[in-house]
Amino acid sequence: MKLNRNFKNLKENYLFAEVGKRVDAYTKEFPGSDVISLGIGDVTIPLSLKAVAACKDAATALSTVSGFRGYGPYDGYAFLKDAVVDYYKMRGITINADEVFITDGAKNGIGNFLDLFDPDNTVMIPDPVYPAYVDANVLAGNRIVYVDATKENGFLAMPPKRGKADIIYICSPNNPTGAAYTTEQLKEWVEFALENNAVIFYDAAYEAFIGDKKVARSIFEVPGARDCAVEFCSFSKMAGFTGVRCGWTVIPMVSPLNRMWLHRQAIKFNGTSYVVQRMAESMLRGGYEDTKTMVAEYKHNAGIITRKFDELGIEYTGGVNAPYIWFNCGIDSWEFFDYLLKKARIVCTPGSGFGKNGNGWIRFTSFNTKARTEEAVKRFESFWKEFNVVREKLFEPVK
Ligand code: PLP
Repeated sequence: MKLNRNFKNLKENYLFAEVGKRVDAYTKEFPGSDVISLGIGDVTIPLSLKAVAACKDAATALSTVSGFRGYGPYDGYAFLKDAVVDYYKMRGITINADEVFITDGAKNGIGNFLDLFDPDNTVMIPDPVYPAYVDANVLAGNRIVYVDATKENGFLAMPPKRGKADIIYICSPNNPTGAAYTTEQLKEWVEFALENNAVIFYDAAYEAFIGDKKVARSIFEVPGARDCAVEFCSFSKMAGFTGVRCGWTVIPMVSPLNRMWLHRQAIKFNGTSYVVQRMAESMLRGGYEDTKTMVAEYKHNAGIITRKFDELGIEYTGGVNAPYIWFNCGIDSWEFFDYLLKKARIVCTPGSGFGKNGNGWIRFTSFNTKARTEEAVKRFESFWKEFNVVREKLFEPVK
């Protein structure tokens, strides 16, 4: 028996496991201490009652002879695919139902999509980035090249002048930096992909957070994207479905990937649960206003954080079209993590865990409740003032 040799190339510590380990150690040492997490990537607002009603109705239907359903279509039920088509139509984008594939979340879609590609491809990934892209490619044994996202380009990596890629990952609004591409900027990526005969994996898991008109909510707003892109989306953050599990992938019919993905799903996937698909449908139909309210609450929390950062003169990106705020702490990210936990009992996510360009930066999220976010910001203000006094004496700056 030979195990997947690429496993040994994965980083030993998965970022969030290491964060959990350090928080556990802290709470063991100081039991009962009131730790607030501004590091969580999970949602806290409970499900919309419309989703719950759809869940109950669907479960009841399954208990009847006429409403019972067994295995569903590999690519999802027509009622949800049509709802996704209408969701795009509302934003002026035309796709058709054959181009929509329902998944059990964006992460599975993004990771499994690599099944359609030969390992002899060059995969271009921005740095810093959502760690799952890198890990899925390491596991598949793919060749990775990085494009830099730094404060000089507003943490929005642009196509390199020289260099080739076959597969390009773009995440906008971005996890971890919260930065989001304008339609104009995405045009450059689409042109680069077309010149390289490459495919763009466009992760739009946070598109519902976009308020800025110049920022693209879908890669398919860009001319030419239908010839080079697939888009992954999710109900996780827009509707609080991180535990319910539902997402979708759009693959234009012109691409051979469309039929290949259907075939792949038929081999390895038996579809997303009927009940869950009914819940998701309810969020795109009558419950759409509830998703907007949820997103607005998280954006309000983001505003609580960014207003304080403005007041304190902290350098940051994000928080406008995203639930993430990415700020410059000026020292090693893990040292800052430990110091912030010790002094203010706040958990953050160290930027270096998202790539080398993340060192010296920290990710906060707006997913905690309003009350906890307000309390954290109050603590953070005193922490930051004190940190600035001791910073030079206690810490080396990041170069
Ligand atoms: N894509 C990005 C950029 C994410 O940050 C996440 C989750 O945090 C996902 C995808 C996963 O989404 P899902 O819950 O739909 O699998």
